[in-house]
Amino acid sequence: MNALSDLQATLDPSRKSWIESANDSTQDFSIQNLPFGIFSDTRDATRRVGVAIGDEIVDLAALQAEGLLKLPSKADVLTRDTLNEFIALGRDAWRSVRVQLSTLLARDTATLRDDTALRSKVLVRQADAQLHLPVQIPGYTDFYSSKEHATNVGSMFRDPKNALLPNWSEMPIGYNGRPSSVVVSGTPVRRPNGQLKLPDQERPVFGACRKLDIELETGFVIGAGNALGEPVACADAEAHIFGMVLLNDWSARDIQQWEYVPLGPFNAKTFATTISPWIVTLDALEPFRVAQPVQEPQPLAYLRHDGEHAFDITLEVTLRPQQAKQASTISRTNFKHMYWTMAQQLAHHTVSGCNTRVGDLMGSGTISGPTEDSCGSLLESTWNGSKPLTLQEGGSRSFIEDGDELTLSGWCQGVGYRVGFGTCVGEILPALS
Ligand code: CA
Repeated sequence: MNALSDLQATLDPSRKSWIESANDSTQDFSIQNLPFGIFSDTRDATRRVGVAIGDEIVDLAALQAEGLLKLPSKADVLTRDTLNEFIALGRDAWRSVRVQLSTLLARDTATLRDDTALRSKVLVRQADAQLHLPVQIPGYTDFYSSKEHATNVGSMFRDPKNALLPNWSEMPIGYNGRPSSVVVSGTPVRRPNGQLKLPDQERPVFGACRKLDIELETGFVIGAGNALGEPVACADAEAHIFGMVLLNDWSARDIQQWEYVPLGPFNAKTFATTISPWIVTLDALEPFRVAQPVQEPQPLAYLRHDGEHAFDITLEVTLRPQQAKQASTISRTNFKHMYWTMAQQLAHHTVSGCNTRVGDLMGSGTISGPTEDSCGSLLESTWNGSKPLTLQEGGSRSFIEDGDELTLSGWCQGVGYRVGFGTCVGEILPALS
């Protein structure tokens, strides 16, 4: 056996775990997944590195203390409150941990399976755990890479016949966002106040956002940075990516509409960005690699790559009003529709010489599909509020109301197993008065 065939074995669809909850084919955290996160629990408030499997979390620090997990460095990177130091060990280390965990958790490995005392030291029930922001994020960038989304927005605010600006098809458009307000799933989000320009008034008023919206996105986390002045080649870009999360880029449409000319969104986007707590590695996503859409015109040379660089990830959004028991599905789409790939985004981001760092977060941009029910924002699905959505319970919505809980979920469906992201949840609190 060599390292690569060991890694390949972790993707074997027939591999099952002795943790039975991991073997349900509609459960996010199969033994093929093994996503990384930061947790604490009711017994121990120390934040530390964990891996989700079924209903459980494997405590990697405890596993290492028991001599069951070997890392290439003696440095203590697992009792940290972020994953950054672990990620900085490099891809061989992530892969080695993945291989060791997959073996330990496999149904035919007795080490933990048959040792109750040991299991109680290294496993924590997810129900007893609190999940934290998994990485310290030095920089956050958000792209605008869904052709359907850009076409919808361009049609709404400019000209349906020329919905895409000429630069859109030539590069992954993006802007530098605000890492300080990235929060983990479950953190309440307060409706922002700001300047609103009402159509019948000459000057803006100050007040609570009236057009609060979601943006259904994924994000990727940088696993290996690049030095200032040294661009990442498109062909090498995926080796710089640790993994992916779900990302909700909360957006205040009315604030955005008034402020965005000429430098782009500012306060409309900086009040909160929610991410899911588990980072799913590119290794786990490998079986779900598919071809990206055909790119026409052919991109400039620095944005070209051979092979398949999109991933088949089903994405869903639900909305549950405060008093409602039932959530309504308001969007269902797929990451594979994205026009620009993550590799192209990173190559473009760094082509100027811009450096990236471990833990940097790159948002995909709103992910909209080709149909009306696959829009990644309410702006699109209600056509700027003109066609409200009817909910199963709790009336209708043009935009988000106070008390609404928005949940993103995402998964890759394999034969007999899932590689899922869990959920990315946020409830809206009323604006400060
Ligand atoms: Ca966005």
